[in-house]
Amino acid sequence: LTEMLKDPSLLVTSAYVAGSWMEAAPGGKTFDVLNPSTGELITALPDLGVEEAKASIDAAYVAQKDWAAKTGKERSAVLRKLYDLMVANADDLGAILTTEMGKPLAEAKGEILYGASFIEWFAEEAKRVYGDTIPGHQHDKRIIVIKQPVGVVASITPWNFPNAMIARKLGPALAVGCAFVAKPAAETPLSALAMAKLAEEAGLPKGLLSVITSKSSAAIGQEFCSNDKVRKITFTGSTEVGRILMRQSADQIKKTSMELGGNAPFIVFDDADLDAAVEGAMISKYRNNGQTCVCANRIYVQAGVYDAFAEKLAAAVGKMKIGDGFAEGVTTGPLISEDAVSKVVEHIEDAKSKGAKVLTGGNRHSLGGTFFEPTILTGVTREMQVAGDETFGPVAPLFKFDSVEDVIEQANDTIFGLASYFYARDLSKVWRVAEALEYGMVGVNTGLISTEVAPFGGVKQSGQGREGSKYGIEDYLEIKYLCLGGI
Ligand code: ADP
Repeated sequence: LTEMLKDPSLLVTSAYVAGSWMEAAPGGKTFDVLNPSTGELITALPDLGVEEAKASIDAAYVAQKDWAAKTGKERSAVLRKLYDLMVANADDLGAILTTEMGKPLAEAKGEILYGASFIEWFAEEAKRVYGDTIPGHQHDKRIIVIKQPVGVVASITPWNFPNAMIARKLGPALAVGCAFVAKPAAETPLSALAMAKLAEEAGLPKGLLSVITSKSSAAIGQEFCSNDKVRKITFTGSTEVGRILMRQSADQIKKTSMELGGNAPFIVFDDADLDAAVEGAMISKYRNNGQTCVCANRIYVQAGVYDAFAEKLAAAVGKMKIGDGFAEGVTTGPLISEDAVSKVVEHIEDAKSKGAKVLTGGNRHSLGGTFFEPTILTGVTREMQVAGDETFGPVAPLFKFDSVEDVIEQANDTIFGLASYFYARDLSKVWRVAEALEYGMVGVNTGLISTEVAPFGGVKQSGQGREGSKYGIEDYLEIKYLCLGGI
């Protein structure tokens, strides 16, 4: 990897704690970061604990005051520089990301630019944190509303978007004057460290950002939630861990933003443009090898077009190329871990045992390791595990439905409410279905909805808060009301 990088210093092998790069102490604990495609060791990193988390929070607490005192324009300039550096180094950042996470290089670079777009967006928004004046309720009083940063933000993020999941939180936090302590996933800490390196180069004051590398997520999470200098927890990951963090945050009434699991329905109505629906399904289902929280998890196809859709989807899946993310023409990498493969196998076996048929795929890939064949299942029903549980892998289960009412009922029959998709052309149906889906996001005739300019987030047990857009900044702000009397 080092030979591949234009700037090898972006492959950082130390943690970033309280403004200093921290190597593992001699004989100190470390953990290995592996390439999921080859199983090879990329590097070992210091395995930090509660002590370093505390030191990072202390430094953040101090640095935050000065940062918040700067003007929006001053903070914006630093973020803009970070954005420029991310774009200028996109090739290197992409290569680091592919190595630690496995997604194809072009997709990895796409993620870097997507992550960078949040830094750019919030650099712009930094100058637009407006308050309000409210007509007074008494003759001698005037009411003003100002917005202020919440303070120190602690972030916990997953491995599926090692850059973008942090960038979406870091951008708004820094823009409004918060400090940021990050605990990236232990599988993929290198992208986070590379971004911190660029943030330092962009002129971010020391201590304002820390990146804690650690295998002890639960202990770090506990410290984040119980340290009263931390005013907000921002998390992307499973609903299960989200619940733990919310429970732990309850004692100190900490603010939380939660981007949790999904169970996205993808609905194809009789009047859909089938080729467009297949294209959308390919993106929504197989992007990142099915490992995104907005991936289609249940594909509902109306009876009249079921067979035709299945056939076209199988043809498209046949064109996918599985392999190492650096290899020419590869569209899909490995799964992140053996556990991920087990879940995929479990869902397929469960569906088969209850009557589903494998139209294509269904097995581990001949490449070995954690590579898996892209799979389509037909004859899937709501009794099967895949109906209620996120597969997080390359399995497209096709359910058959008859009416609009029937599919809406099935689509909403889940504790989750993140993304949903449907393909239809009749305008009144489009509007009615979009309103009826109990989801934070609805893709209509598209399988790709993520952008920095729109609010990303879920309802029900998929979370709370929004990332991106003008709404995303509110998650990092407190409202303060000033009542001026004696006027
Ligand atoms: P995923 O399946 O994407 O790994 P998780 O919710 O398990 O989803 O993990 C998301 C992030 O949460 C990772 O960085 C992981 O290390 C961290 N994590 C896991 N368990 C806990 C916990 N009990 N407290 C805090 N963080 C945790």
